[in-house]
Amino acid sequence: MTGRTHDMAAFTTLVGVMAFFPMPSITLSTAIVSLGANMLGGDMPDIDQPTGVIWHKLPLGTWYSRLFTPFLGGHRYISHSRVGIFLFGYLSWWGLTLISHVLLVDIKVVWDCFMIGFLSHLVMDTITREGVPWFFPIPIRIGIPPMKAFRVATGGLIERFLIFPGLIVMTGYIVYSFHSKFILLLHHYIR
Ligand SMILES: [Zn+2]
Repeated sequence: MTGRTHDMAAFTTLVGVMAFFPMPSITLSTAIVSLGANMLGGDMPDIDQPTGVIWHKLPLGTWYSRLFTPFLGGHRYISHSRVGIFLFGYLSWWGLTLISHVLLVDIKVVWDCFMIGFLSHLVMDTITREGVPWFFPIPIRIGIPPMKAFRVATGGLIERFLIFPGLIVMTGYIVYSFHSKFILLLHHYIR
């Protein structure tokens, strides 16, 4: 999937989680940082390739990426697996605790939003032709549906004209269906 689709999928998943689970009371700064963390999490697994969105956002990122990406074993390897979930989950929590005294936000909420984005990325990549090595180090890429021919081509017509708009519609539908909860969130939860 492209970075744009991953960003949208991360947001759609976040909205879904917000609709179905009880929301903690958060500050506006936590809400803003959490939204950014959600997008970052949605792009993070592709840090294993020089064309990853995150590298393009960093100054000289594509240059550094060539030094860094071999350590993750290449594209769709460790960062696209359960090992990657634990590794990036641990590192991001560690990073957040380090900056928690300067960044005055609820780091538990920020971390949750980051991980929601991260997980959504792996789920979205699972429906692409290449699949995802969920059970790394077992070298098998899992894909849904099992027949490769029925899966989505990254950046192809299905992704651009069906999946991406579909995610927008789904987000709108969730917000519409649970609008009272989202209004309550804006009124009461965000202090
Ligand atoms: Zn990916």
